[in-house]
Amino acid sequence: MPSVAFQTLGCKVNHYETEAIWQLFQNEGYERADFESTADVYVINTCTVTNTGDKKSRQVIRRAVRKNPNAVICVTGCYAQTSPAEIMAIPGVDIVVGTQDRTKMIPYIEQYKQERQPINGVSNIMKARVYEELEVPAFTDRTRASLKIQEGCNNFCTFCIIPWARGLMRSRDPEAVIEQAQKLVDAGYKEIVLTGIHTAGYGEDMKDYNFAKLLKDLDKKVHGLKRLRISSIEASQVTDEVIEAMKQSNTIVRHLHIPIQSASNTVLKRMRRKYTMQMFADRLEKLKKVLPGLAITSDVIVGFPGETEEEFQETYDFIAKHKFSELHVFPYSKRTGTPAARMEDQVPEEIKNERVHRLIELSNQLAKEYASQFEEEVLEVIPEEVYKEEPNSGLYVGYTDNYLKVKVQASEEMVGKLVKVKITKAGYPYNEGQFVRVIDNEISSKTAISS
Ligand code: SF4
Repeated sequence: MPSVAFQTLGCKVNHYETEAIWQLFQNEGYERADFESTADVYVINTCTVTNTGDKKSRQVIRRAVRKNPNAVICVTGCYAQTSPAEIMAIPGVDIVVGTQDRTKMIPYIEQYKQERQPINGVSNIMKARVYEELEVPAFTDRTRASLKIQEGCNNFCTFCIIPWARGLMRSRDPEAVIEQAQKLVDAGYKEIVLTGIHTAGYGEDMKDYNFAKLLKDLDKKVHGLKRLRISSIEASQVTDEVIEAMKQSNTIVRHLHIPIQSASNTVLKRMRRKYTMQMFADRLEKLKKVLPGLAITSDVIVGFPGETEEEFQETYDFIAKHKFSELHVFPYSKRTGTPAARMEDQVPEEIKNERVHRLIELSNQLAKEYASQFEEEVLEVIPEEVYKEEPNSGLYVGYTDNYLKVKVQASEEMVGKLVKVKITKAGYPYNEGQFVRVIDNEISSKTAISS
């Protein structure tokens, strides 16, 4: 049996696609090998979101070549898409496939074995107009399954290289999404996370369908689904129809990740984001009114070129005022090939670090404040894994629907099940909880919480 080893860099979508590529190999009779062992084929799924992504990808490629110089080395993913020539120039690389045509990978391997000539299978991603179906029936993670619903992005934010690596927006056929969701639920997953490159842009390339309709259809047509999470949604995509779908649904969780990046209109304009702070605030107010207790997490880029102290302060104040429940804070890092990398007034590292620090402190404080509202409440948790810091304590860690991370006494059989837990001590990053009971067969997480 031939063997294949994978290494994945970067985001959730890449990890998802590695699983899809593994399916293709499995169907051809391959066995999966550990990346550190000797395999016949190595697949490196690369990332290019930052310059460091490129560098790390190159290191991993070289490591695979050293492991087995006779293996077929196949490089795919975002960095492969944007810079195939750079990758082909690394000694030992045999095949390069970008972010499409993954199904050609195995025929390319056969071709390579015959001809022993390097193959560049990267084509122009900007011409791709149709979502490429790749099925992922199972994941290594037992508790949540990712479900990719779209590819590409039309936004071209000035700091981001991703549209060049992924192409323009292509939505997956709704029926295929629903069918895939049902298969995942039937395989035992309680939670599905809708993912993509610009996830909630779903439907922008369709005529009579949109993201809100997909949410409603998933809610209605997928039997046995307990939790539906949206990996990310932009403020401009939080439409009244999406809010209504969330309100009506028993499965869509009380959590939205809405990347803000900055809360200064002038910075947002330089970033070429598609919303203003007024729009953002309006959406937040509406959400909070309709969905009390909703957790809102966000991403912030600190030290974008030209960011003044006043602009940073606007961001800080907005976040403090609107009480986000957690932030992912990134210092701006130049991505070669993007307009922002060429902008003047790059912010010095020490200023960026100091601002990052201030925002992280704010995030910690807001996270604690958010969690404290739920002390003494009984919530539903899906235990995911043993609490690593005290592996023999019997404690497991899992998330509530509104994304509180909870430590609770549980057992191995409860992993991946819905369990009622009383929050005894709110905190951050962990809340402490007391096991109440397993409620795996009850239907609605929201009804259960409010009952
Ligand atoms: S919305 Fe902006 S940051 Fe997000 S993938 Fe598109 S271009 Fe990149």
